[in-house]
This record gives sequence, C-alpha cells and structure tokens, in this order.
Amino acid sequence: MQVPLLDLKAQYATIKDEVLAAVAEVLESQRCIGGPKVEELEKQIAQASDCKYAVGVSSGTDALLSCLMSLQIGPGDEVITTPFTFFATIGCIARVGAKPVFVDIDPKTYNIDPDLIEAAVTKKTKAIMPVHLFGQMAEMDPIMDVADRYNLAVIEDAAQSITSTYKDRKAGSIGTAGCFSFFPSKNLGGIGDGGMVVTNDEALYKRLVLTRNHGMEPKYYHKFVGANFRLDPIQAVALLVKLPHLDDWSQARRENAAYYDRKFKGTAVGTPYISPDCKTIYNQYCIRVPRRDEVVAHLQANHIGCEIYYPVPAHLQECFAYLGCKEGSLPVSEKAAKEIMALPIYPELTDEMQDAVVAAVLDFLG
Ligand SMILES: *Cc1c(COP(=O)(O)O)cnc(C)c1O
Repeated sequence: MQVPLLDLKAQYATIKDEVLAAVAEVLESQRCIGGPKVEELEKQIAQASDCKYAVGVSSGTDALLSCLMSLQIGPGDEVITTPFTFFATIGCIARVGAKPVFVDIDPKTYNIDPDLIEAAVTKKTKAIMPVHLFGQMAEMDPIMDVADRYNLAVIEDAAQSITSTYKDRKAGSIGTAGCFSFFPSKNLGGIGDGGMVVTNDEALYKRLVLTRNHGMEPKYYHKFVGANFRLDPIQAVALLVKLPHLDDWSQARRENAAYYDRKFKGTAVGTPYISPDCKTIYNQYCIRVPRRDEVVAHLQANHIGCEIYYPVPAHLQECFAYLGCKEGSLPVSEKAAKEIMALPIYPELTDEMQDAVVAAVLDFLG
C-alpha cells in the first residue's frame, strides 16, 4: 500500500463545491484585493484565537516580518529564538537587520527551553520569538515571565499551531502577537500562500494594518516604509470554507496520533511527548528512531511518505555562518535534527494506511 505524507486532494474532495462557489463569487465581484471577505476571515480567526485583533497578510513569513517591522526591531537589536524550526522564523529576524540569538530546545517537546532564555538576554535584546513546533505550544508562562522582567516583546510563531492551547489559552493570545501561516500543508491551509497576525495590543494592530500596505494613510501619504503584505480575498474565501472544519480535522489528527502511539508502544520508536499543559493540533507527528536516515530510505522504498523536520538547525545553516555558531554549541537541537522524522498524520488517513506505516517502520527496526 502507498501512503503519502499528506493528501490535500482527499480533503479538497470533501469541500470542493463550496470552495469553487466561493472563489467564483470573488471572481464575479472582481474585488480581488482586500475587502469584506478578508475582514470576515480576520474576525473569525481573531475569535478562534481569543484575540481582539487580526491582520491578514500574504504568508506566515510575512506575518513574522510585519510583526518585527511594526515593533520597529532592526539593526543593533537581538531577538532570542530556537534554532529548531522552519527557516522563516530566523530568516525574518535577519531580514530586518537584527541578530538572531539561539537558545537550545527541550529534548522532549522540541520547543525552546525556557530555563535557558534568561542567560541569553543582553541590553540589546528586544524580543523573544518562541515557535510552537509541530502543533504543540511552547511553555509560555516562564517565557512571559522573562519577557515581563526585561520588558521584551514576545512574538509567537504559531504557524504550525493555530487553535492549539497551553493551559487552556490559545496560540497567539499570550504573547505580544501571534503569527499564523495558511501554507497548504498547515492544519488550516489556503489555496496558495497566506498568513495572519493576531494581537490584543491596539497600537500594534494599527501599525500592522499600515505596515501591510506601505505605511500608507491616507492614500499616497506614507508615514513609514512598509511593504505589500496583503492577503487576497481568494485565499480568504477558501479559508472561510475550511475554518469551520478545523477542530474536527485537528481531532482526527489527535486520534491518528493516539493510534500510532499504541502501535509503537514498547518498540524502539520514540513517540511524541505532549505536555499535560498542552492540547496539540499535530501539524506533524514526529518520531525519534535509531539509524534515522536508513529508516527514511526504507519507508521511501516502500512508498510510505515521510519527511525530516528539520535536518539542519538554523545556527548551522550556511547563510548564518556570519553568526559564528559552532557545531556542538546547541547539542539538543543538533541531536534532534539527526534522530527525528515525521510520519503521515493527516485527518483522512485510514487505520489500514496507518497499519502500513507502522509495519514499514517496525519491519526495518525489528
Ligand atoms: C510554515 C512556517 C512558517 C512560514 O509560513 P509561510 O506561510 O510558509 O511563509 C514560519 N514558521 C514556521 C514554524 C512554519 O512552520
């Protein structure tokens, strides 16, 4: 049996008519930039995230970038974050001219280790950017505690964790702002690129709205330099069709995860650790295995989808060589990068498909 890592067609088949009708409505209106559909999505995402404000933007990357720009973080500033994340988190810090300062991760959750943050704070630190990796939120209480004591902004990279919770609080609602991605492989995926920033800070919200549109107000008068970070209504209407299904889809992922957890119990496979404080949405189901690269090759040979998130931690990327981080400096992240691999977890997986995945893994590991 072949099992893909993700099957977007299976999900699309369940909502196709609604998406096509909604997209056709936008095309008929020819209101193709901004407008009421984008505003409606902003309202609904703010609500789903227990936040007062939401600003639709062009991608998850641009959500992070527009937050940093709106908080006026730039050259001479430092931002503390995790090296074990998708590149965009760090890329945005570097792009505004600030210095990424890496703190190692918790070996169980793969999220930033809050106990190591305070030692990384300097006079130049302006913000902490925790990432809620694989669908599980970072340990926000101790992160907010350090941020409050040193007066730092907290930008939650919640690209993989929309509607996920920590102590019953939603991703994006605890820090200064939260950033979501609607990249098609995320739990709430658009039909192209898209993203959103949520916040409870009115001044930041107003600045984000301007940053998204060239710092322009009124028309052709520019208060500061922003960019074009706008979200298209075509994306908004597709996301409005999908949003009501999100909780069910995330629940199906949790059930699939529980199924894997049972099947891998007592084997050499390390299953994901979910903190009792968290409700994860399992954007990924990542296992740790011995001889990881051989397991990946074995699965690929058997047409079982899998992926390595992420093979190279950010501090060892070629583009960040100028930061001077050495191999061995962030050992927990480096070890995770060598041992981790993701298995198919999407909602439409059947038990038979999961059995095929489990069999392929255990078949190799014996
Ligand atoms: C997907 C992702 C992003 C970037 O989102 P895009 O919409 O692809 O730009 C940022 N951070 C993390 C952790 C992500 O997984």
